[in-house]
Amino acid sequence: MTTTALWDELLVGDELAHLGSEPAREARTAPLPDSLQPSVREALARRGIHELYAHQANAYAAAQRGGNVIVTTGTASGKTLAFNLPVLDALAADRHARALYLYPTKALAQDQARSLGELGVPAVRAAIYDGDTPTERRRQIRGWANLVLTNPDMLHIGVLPRHDLWGDFLHNLRFVVVDEAHVYRGVFGSHVANVVRRLRRLARIYGTEPQFLLASATIANAGELAEALTGEEATVVEDDAAPRAERTVALWNPPLLDAELGLRASALGEASRLLAGLVGRGLRTICFAKSRKSAELIHRFASDRLDAATAARLAPYRAGYTPQQRREIERRLVEGDLLGVTSTDALELGIDIGDLDCAISVGFPGTVASLRQQWGRAGRREHGLAILVASEDALDQYFMREPPALLERHVEAAILDHANPRVLDGHVAAAAFEAPVDDGDAATLGPEALERAPHVPELRHTARGWVWAGKDAPAPRIPLRSTSPDAFLVLDASSGDVLGLAERERAYSTVHKGAVYLHLGRQYLVRELDLESRRALVEPFDGNWYTQAKKETQTSIEEPLRVERRLGLELSFGRVSVTEQVVAYQKKAAADGSTLDTVPLDLPPTTFDTEAVWFVPRPHQLEGLETMPLLLSSLHAAEHSLIALLPLWAMCDRWDIGGLSTNLHLDTGAPTVFVYDGHAGGVGIAARGFDQFEGWVADTAELLAGCPCERGCPSCVQSPKCGNLNEYLDKAGALTLLTRMSNSG
Ligand SMILES: [Zn+2]
Ligand SMILES: [Zn+2]
Repeated sequence: MTTTALWDELLVGDELAHLGSEPAREARTAPLPDSLQPSVREALARRGIHELYAHQANAYAAAQRGGNVIVTTGTASGKTLAFNLPVLDALAADRHARALYLYPTKALAQDQARSLGELGVPAVRAAIYDGDTPTERRRQIRGWANLVLTNPDMLHIGVLPRHDLWGDFLHNLRFVVVDEAHVYRGVFGSHVANVVRRLRRLARIYGTEPQFLLASATIANAGELAEALTGEEATVVEDDAAPRAERTVALWNPPLLDAELGLRASALGEASRLLAGLVGRGLRTICFAKSRKSAELIHRFASDRLDAATAARLAPYRAGYTPQQRREIERRLVEGDLLGVTSTDALELGIDIGDLDCAISVGFPGTVASLRQQWGRAGRREHGLAILVASEDALDQYFMREPPALLERHVEAAILDHANPRVLDGHVAAAAFEAPVDDGDAATLGPEALERAPHVPELRHTARGWVWAGKDAPAPRIPLRSTSPDAFLVLDASSGDVLGLAERERAYSTVHKGAVYLHLGRQYLVRELDLESRRALVEPFDGNWYTQAKKETQTSIEEPLRVERRLGLELSFGRVSVTEQVVAYQKKAAADGSTLDTVPLDLPPTTFDTEAVWFVPRPHQLEGLETMPLLLSSLHAAEHSLIALLPLWAMCDRWDIGGLSTNLHLDTGAPTVFVYDGHAGGVGIAARGFDQFEGWVADTAELLAGCPCERGCPSCVQSPKCGNLNEYLDKAGALTLLTRMSNSG
């Protein structure tokens, strides 16, 4: 194979932490089902489809049996056809049947609408119904379309509260498709799970029970996710039968410049070298970076390494392009006019760029599912190359030393908690607005909804059940991406655009005055935080520093829910109250993390309830570590490294997790380490840590043992979000403690 020889000479040197290969695989096929409607069969034949992959046939069969299905096969394995087939078949067989497709972004809904159009099944009348749909079109779509594509926000605010307009659609709703289901996790997933339950309830009121067809990236808990999202069981289809080309996988670690500081050569520089080398050899390559600025720097550095003619065949691909501009770049890539594209990973969803030779991910994108999606762009038909260039982050460095943890284990679970009262209460109100809520609704909304109803203000109990007694519809006041209704709005002062929401619990540490705020790969500087109007005004920022908040944190145990003897100590999971006060922030140089300035802040404390996992090490586990400040430093370092690795088990960001370690906690009367869910009420992160405690602790001990530094560095015990600015950290003490715990198992 010529391409292999082409990249072989690039993949040499100490930077190469791992070189492996995922073998090619033959397709396993199944005949088209006999029961398939002739018009669907003909449409498939026109597209050259005369048989199915085995997993597509399995999904169809499971749907035919009447149950819910979740398909969780690999990238580019034909998941779309797996859920489309039962739907198209039903629409072709019954002109009254209706289907609803949920997509997390508008771009993805557009891509799906386009490919449904291309398939050309005559009975299918597909239409997008989202915030961009003109008012005069909406009524027409409700009456005409039998396949509606929308997003959870529109369903939540635009469809369910106006179900009277959708009566016919709901009455005939046969299928609900939830694509990219792994995206619905954490806070967003917890909300969407309630939106889906409200949909199920209304469908039942209109006399039907739709089947749910879900598709997800490969995760550890597909069946559990389907049930958490819909409230019903689903058949898991996970045996991937699609053909696969051979893929070479390289893990690339920039050279260590200073072991004690954990300082490595720039990942951007390494990535641009690889990109230029691959493109210079005529290989079509996409490079994913974490921020727009990084993507632009890689583009510039790579161009500088190439002659002008080759450099002209590189392009950045960024948010804000019109669909036409996107298509133009995609076309040039497919035709081979463009050879290299740099992009932010925020854009990974919805890019349709055909078959490339190589994909480079610069920095672990946060989840194995995302990394696999990025890598899936490379070598779909012919031998491809996938590379991860590591950052200094602890998880990245852990993968460089333990490649099987990244490449072979499937431990990452998509988690959510629809019953978190901070999330649920708003949806109980919304449900009551849509129709009175009574005990019979426990079957669809869940028993927790009925338990919460008496606690929701503006609900009144009547003979018909709980009814909405407030004025306006409650749904628009419930943002799907926050657990607190009193979140701060983040506004771009230069354009007036709303960038997003900062939950109140975290606003003071992320959007305080002077903070550098990252949104969809772009940097902003916070000009002003208005506590009264709960608005943060930001402006685009191009400086070379970032900020870190200094805060004081206290926890108190409200209620232990589960207490077990694990790893030789008492491990608890339960409800805690966290009080934080941001007292200052530091400006830090992007280049080396050195402190440029410390600025005091005057902000009120915030308190929120959440879930935590905590433990009190036994005296023999702390032997030799009892003196101060060694004791505190050992616990603190253990807390940090545990937090760094929890996202390997629970799909989340380390910014979703908080921690506190103390040599003496008032509630336990002993040295204690807390790891808590950073979202009010908790979304399941701490619970996952409790369930997986043994594996989590063992991985963390391995992380510490393997890091080449002596006293602790950003790749092991230091944290970019430490409220104590990484003071009092003892790596050796943490390793001793975690190893003793692991050995007690
Ligand atoms: Zn280290
Ligand atoms: Zn800390």
